[in-house]
Amino acid sequence: MEKNRSGRRKFISNTITTLAFLFLANTFLLKRLNSKTRPKIVIVGLGIGGATCLQYLNKISNFVDIIVIEKQNVYQTGPLSNLVIGNILQRKDICFKINKKKYKNVKFIFENVKRIDVENKSVVFSKNLKVKFDFLILSPGISYKNDILKGYNVSDKKNIPHCWDGESNITQFKKRLRDLENNSKIIITSPDYPYRCPPAPYERATLIANYQRKLNKKVKILILDSKNSFTKQENYFREWQINFRDEIEWIPRSKGGKVIFYDQKKNLVKNSDGQIFKGDFIHIIPEQKAASIFFDSELLNDGKDWCEINPISFEINRFKDIYAVGDSIDAWAMPKSAFSANSQAKILAINLINKILEKDYIDPVFLNTCYSFSKEDRAFSISAWYRLNMTKDKIISLGSSESNVYANDNDRKLEAQHAIGWYETMVNDLFM
Ligand SMILES: Cc1cc2nc3c(=O)[nH]c(=O)nc-3n(C[C@H](O)[C@H](O)[C@H](O)COP(=O)(O)OP(=O)(O)OC[C@H]3O[C@@H](n4cnc5c(N)ncnc54)[C@H](O)[C@@H]3O)c2cc1C
Repeated sequence: MEKNRSGRRKFISNTITTLAFLFLANTFLLKRLNSKTRPKIVIVGLGIGGATCLQYLNKISNFVDIIVIEKQNVYQTGPLSNLVIGNILQRKDICFKINKKKYKNVKFIFENVKRIDVENKSVVFSKNLKVKFDFLILSPGISYKNDILKGYNVSDKKNIPHCWDGESNITQFKKRLRDLENNSKIIITSPDYPYRCPPAPYERATLIANYQRKLNKKVKILILDSKNSFTKQENYFREWQINFRDEIEWIPRSKGGKVIFYDQKKNLVKNSDGQIFKGDFIHIIPEQKAASIFFDSELLNDGKDWCEINPISFEINRFKDIYAVGDSIDAWAMPKSAFSANSQAKILAINLINKILEKDYIDPVFLNTCYSFSKEDRAFSISAWYRLNMTKDKIISLGSSESNVYANDNDRKLEAQHAIGWYETMVNDLFM
């Protein structure tokens, strides 16, 4: 017993000595770094991935120069945006301005980045101004494919806004939804993988049904899907069966769900079998690819839609000192979500600090939890864990756990509270 205690004391004292040594070593290394040239780290995109990198890199901001570039003054989150569409939250509840007071040594530039000049290690703005970098982190999110659905142009303002990023007009989306007459038909097209937030099209359909019911309107929502199955499908089916049996119908690809043609004037879509679906509100969720900056800067391999990275450092393959994180990367088994971007960005920042300090990289482990709401007080989730494969060149799943399909009302309510708790913690950490 005494031997055990003294062993534990020795372990604790060794641990404290190691931590103190690491702290002194880091301080020493950082000071040495400071006395040489200060590395300049530029972050493009202050969404979830970029803000997480900033939060971690800020810890060494006395010793490095950090510049953050973001094109929007106010960031609107993807998470909980379906609750705004479903009139459960207000738009202001999901909009944030970065708290600059928290980042005293950081320089913020609110401008659109046009491209990256790889050769000269600089970021080029629309006005052809440039900012140099030693290390560049890109977390600019997604852009959209314009060549998949004939007749559909992503930037056509007459379309129902897709609301798949913070720039799309969510207020207009809601207005058009509110203006719908009784017995209207809503068509939602769900894209093929990979796309941002896999369960979000189904959450959106559910919360629209919930909202229309509160407005005392009967609607029929048809989800035309480019896929034959989707994440948390059984949980969604259960929620639809309990609450929205008459409102929501899901048509998989195998039964004609793949839409290939859109006619805005005639309010119709056509599927791959030539079948026509008419609707009063046609909501196209476009197929997606990495943000345009990757294409404009030629940072992608030929024919690729997503950025290929080293999963330990997040450095882009073939491009030294340029890193990418979040929705714009091909993260193998990891879905494109705020939770994933947050988890990945922590590793990127920690391993970039390790690189700057000439220390070993840590071997990453990642986590993703995705919550979905079906009403204000009902939610369910899926969680998954990830690590690298044996050859350390791929992120693989270690398994997942999903909410019980037959969860009772109380469990659904608890999950709704967890979802809000997760969101508040994340946005408080990153933006406030
Ligand atoms: C409807 C919906 C619901 C969602 N729900 C959830 C959820 O419940 N849970 C979850 O985990 N995830 C959810 N997501 C996904 C989540 O929003 C994204 O996965 C996450 O935001 C990805 O982070 P990111 O940093 O890659 O991109 P973003 O957060 O989109 O940030 C990119 C930033 O880069 C900026 N930018 C882009 N290009 C430039 C440029 N050229 N110059 C300067 N700045 C630029 C943009 O303005 C933006 O601020 C949802 C998404 C949607 C659409």
